[in-house]
Amino acid sequence: MHSEIVDTLRCLGAHDESWLVAAADHTEDRHIMRGVLGCPVCRARYPIDAGVADFTEGRGASSAAATEGPPFEDDDAMKLAAMLDLTSGGGYVLLLGRWARLAHALRELAPVMVIVANPPAGVEMGNGVSGISIADRVPLAAGSARGVAIDVGSSALADSAIARVRPGGRVVGEAEVELPAGVELLARDERHWVGARRGGGPLLRLVRGSAPPATST
Ligand SMILES: [Zn+2]
Repeated sequence: MHSEIVDTLRCLGAHDESWLVAAADHTEDRHIMRGVLGCPVCRARYPIDAGVADFTEGRGASSAAATEGPPFEDDDAMKLAAMLDLTSGGGYVLLLGRWARLAHALRELAPVMVIVANPPAGVEMGNGVSGISIADRVPLAAGSARGVAIDVGSSALADSAIARVRPGGRVVGEAEVELPAGVELLARDERHWVGARRGGGPLLRLVRGSAPPATST
């Protein structure tokens, strides 16, 4: 759990969005490898072990963690960087499930932080890659991610994950993942699709202004 990413984490408690306070027992190169995150509002505690913060609240990670899937191909990290439009640095992207296998290769291609959710066994935390273990909700600030990649095993988390993406940000899915509502399809091939999160653009504001009552996103 990189110290910069801590600022992006949010409590899952039933109260207004709240950041979390980190207490580190063991840190390696700005990554909290062992410690705890605490909510100043409801006192919830989320332990960090082996660099992965546990937000499952004792319910166990979603089945995404067990999904193996076909192996990635040599140029898949390059393809993922392109689909996520990582031509500039800064910010972070969220990789769900088996996409985590490309996290370090992606970091070598683009200077962005990477958060992996329910990563498969063998994915190391550190070097800008931070891990979270989640059940049914994504504990990140709304609209804060540059983009998200969804694997088949994480389909149930798609809506919660997309809400963390900034309007216009990229959403990537494996071909078998149904295109979520709120995502405008940009391109599709036999293995993947890529879209943009709708909302927040000038056109949408114009439409809303002429058609009250507006609905929130
Ligand atoms: Zn809380």
